[in-house]
Parts: sequence; structure tokens; C-alpha cells
Amino acid sequence: MSNHVTILGSTGSIGRQSLEVIAALGMEAVALAANSSVKRMEEQARQYKPKLAVLADEKAAADLRVRLADTNVQVLGGLGGLLEAAVIPSADTAIAALVGMAGLRPTLAAIREGKRIALANKETLVCAGPLVLEEARDYGAKILPVDSEHSALFQCLEGHDRREVKRLILTCSGGPFYGKAQEELAHITVEDALRHPNWSMGAKITVDSATLMNKGLEVIEAMHLYRVPVEKISVVIHRESIIHSLVEYCDNAVLAQMGAPDMRLPIQYALTWPNRAASQAVTPLDLWNCGPLTFGSPDLDTFRCLALALEAAKTGGTAGAILNGANEGAVARFLAGEIGFLDIARKVERAMERVPVVQNPTMQDILDADQAARESVG
Ligand code: NAD
Ligand code: MG
Repeated sequence: MSNHVTILGSTGSIGRQSLEVIAALGMEAVALAANSSVKRMEEQARQYKPKLAVLADEKAAADLRVRLADTNVQVLGGLGGLLEAAVIPSADTAIAALVGMAGLRPTLAAIREGKRIALANKETLVCAGPLVLEEARDYGAKILPVDSEHSALFQCLEGHDRREVKRLILTCSGGPFYGKAQEELAHITVEDALRHPNWSMGAKITVDSATLMNKGLEVIEAMHLYRVPVEKISVVIHRESIIHSLVEYCDNAVLAQMGAPDMRLPIQYALTWPNRAASQAVTPLDLWNCGPLTFGSPDLDTFRCLALALEAAKTGGTAGAILNGANEGAVARFLAGEIGFLDIARKVERAMERVPVVQNPTMQDILDADQAARESVG
């Protein structure tokens, strides 16, 4: 069980919910780190009184330092500050809740200190899964999933012999555009894409949930995390987000983990594992009033991003880093109003055609693949 926690990405959706969970469990947040949100970081620092508050943006960090001059909170900036927060000796646990490939270096730094890693930052595993997991084994850092599907799989796998697993089944809400045809997606606006039916999340993952790239990234994340080949991972559309994922065993028994859609539950389990703690914050699941649960197949022709991610999973090597780098670049351009919704998949596909894949990559190969994929997106 965790007691002292550093939160990388504390001002984001996962970061803020993590702070709620930590406070409710009586744990201590010893360091907080984020990108540039000065005001929110000041509020968090005053409320949670960490030893260290970091903003990656140097100007924002300078501003924060002035604002927190009357407190005992140390303020640092830049990548150096982010790494200090990752390795702060008083933390036994790091919550990796930065968004995107930016999370890779700080997460690796925390792993090398042997800390428990509550991992929300899926892009890190998509890009560099085998390397990250190897380091975690070498340094004795336990990685516990925060992503709701992976937490569900983890819970359904616990206590079972992995050789008896027939397949992992990830549930997918289908996002806001479920059931629509390609033509209808052409004129989707940023505002449309940011409206998710079941979850309130950061902008990048909300767009990924609308394109179904999020599910594709999650398939790759699951493949690495549980060392299961992609052929043994399936995606099922489940609009209600009550079943968070399932494991099918060789005797055809299927175990599911259920709960109200609330990220505070998987966050909490990553912190309390191997125990559970009573939660006042998480809404109990009211089975008698939650309505029917439905299941269907994903439409891979309309939601090309999921098909491309499955292809990258099969290819292996740096394909995940290329897929992810191109997607991060394309989503940023979509959010900036520069490209259309359907262009995201087109740009990712083009990057996958153009950037050569390296098998058994080094960290440098992965960083190069990421860079080349971003450049191809423009
Ligand atoms: P968010 O955009 O709300 O928050 C991201 C956080 O990272 C913020 O604190 C931001 O300041 C910080 N950040 C971003 N770029 C940075 C940089 N370059 N340097 C330093 N800090 C930086 O995102 P989120 O929704 O909280 O998601 C975080 C991660 O968790 C993502 O990888 C996402 O896929 C994953 N995740 C989120 C949810 C969810 O419900 N929000 C669910 C499952 C997984
Ligand atoms: Mg998820």
C-alpha cells in the first residue's frame, strides 16, 4: 500500500482525481508536477502542502515561485524539475498521469528508483512497452494500471494461472460517434469530439476516444502489460461503461470487473493494492437501476484509427511509437482547428507507410521513430 505519493500530471483529469483519492485515504502528496497551469498548481500546493511543486514550463514555474513565496513549498521548473518530482526520495509511489510521450522520461526515472508506479500514461507503454517493463523488473518497480480497462483485466487475472487465459476482452464505449458512417464524420468539430458520453477526461484522450484510437492504444498497452499476443485480445463495444473489461479462460469462463464509470476506483486500487479500502468517493453500482447492458462489434472501416493500431500491434518494434507520435501530432493539429476529424486517421496511416519500422528497438530508435512520425504529420 502506498503512503507518500508524487503525482506527475497533478493538474489534469487523472491528477485531480488522484489528489481526491489520496486525501480520502489519508495518504500524503509529497510532490506535484504539471505543465503550465500556474493558478491550479498554486491552489493544489496550498491545499495539499507538498514538499515540491513543479511546472515544466520555466516561465510558469517562475510565476509559481513568486506566488508560493509565503509557503514552504519548493518550486522547480523544466524537465529537470519534472525528473526531481519523479525521483523524490520521500515518495514510495509515483502516479504517472502526464499525457503523451512527454511522460516517458519521468516515468522511467521513477521506475529506476524502484517506486510503485500507478500508470495512467498509456502512451509510455505504447511507445516503449518492452523497455519500460524490463526496467521495472530490473529495478523492482511494481507497475499498477490506472487505465480502467487494464485495472479490470488486472483484477480478473489476479490469482489465476496466465497459461489458462484464452483471451483478454477490452470494453469500448464506442465514443460520441458510435453508429455513424464515415461521411457523417467528415464535418465533426472540435466541440463535438470533446463531448464524451460517459467519461470526463483531458482533451487529447477525449479525441482519442472519439476516433477509437484510445482503444487501439489500450490494446497495445494490454499486450505489453500482460504479455499477451494481439491475436488474443478482442474489443467489444459496450455503450454503458459498466463492465470495464473481461478475461476469457480456457474453460470458456469469462470473468468481468464491473463498477460505475468513475476513474477514482482504478486510481484507488493502484494505490491500495493488494488490499482494498472502503470508499466514500466512488458511487456504488446500482445494478437494479442501471438498465440493460449491451454488447456489439467495433466498426473498423469507419473508425480507422482502431484498425491502424491493431496493425501496429501486429507489426511490433517501433510501430507503436510511430502510431502514437503521428496520433499525438495529428490530434494536436485537430484541436488547433488545422485539420479535420477524418484527417487524424489519414495522417497516422501515412506516417505508418512512410516511417520505417525497427524491430527490437533501443530507446534512441523509439525517440527517432516518434520524431519522424510527428514530422510526417507536419
Ligand atoms: P489531462 O490533459 O487532463 O492532464 C495532463 C496532465 O499532464 C496535466 O497536469 C498537464 O499539465 C500535464 N502535462 C501535459 N503535458 C506535459 C508536459 N509536456 N510536461 C509536463 N506536464 C505535462 O490528461 P488526463 O485525461 O488526465 O490523462 C492523463 C493520462 O492518463 C493520459 O495518458 C491518458 O491517456 C490517461 N488516462 C486518462 C483517463 C481519464 O479518465 N482522464 C483514463 C485513462 C487513462
Ligand atoms: Mg481506458
